[in-house]
Amino acid sequence: MDRRVCGKKGVGFMNCFYCKGALRDGVTAHVIKLKSCIIIVKGVPCTECTQCGAVFYDNAVALRLEGIVKEMKTAVTEVAIVNYPAA
Ligand SMILES: [Zn+2]
Repeated sequence: MDRRVCGKKGVGFMNCFYCKGALRDGVTAHVIKLKSCIIIVKGVPCTECTQCGAVFYDNAVALRLEGIVKEMKTAVTEVAIVNYPAA
């Protein structure tokens, strides 16, 4: 489990893990690079740093991304672009 994504609500910290900048809610495209393919998940809810642009996911989102990757891994040949499923 990734330690960056812990906490009851949101990412569990108020300032950027890296630069201590202010965080805000945002939406990003998450790119997963695997050995033989690339999966791009669009519209992923995230918390982003207004200063350095680092992106953090909360637990539920991270788990969901993991599930998407597991599913796609076997189906994808080269590049896949999927939309993050609405809750
Ligand atoms: Zn930052």
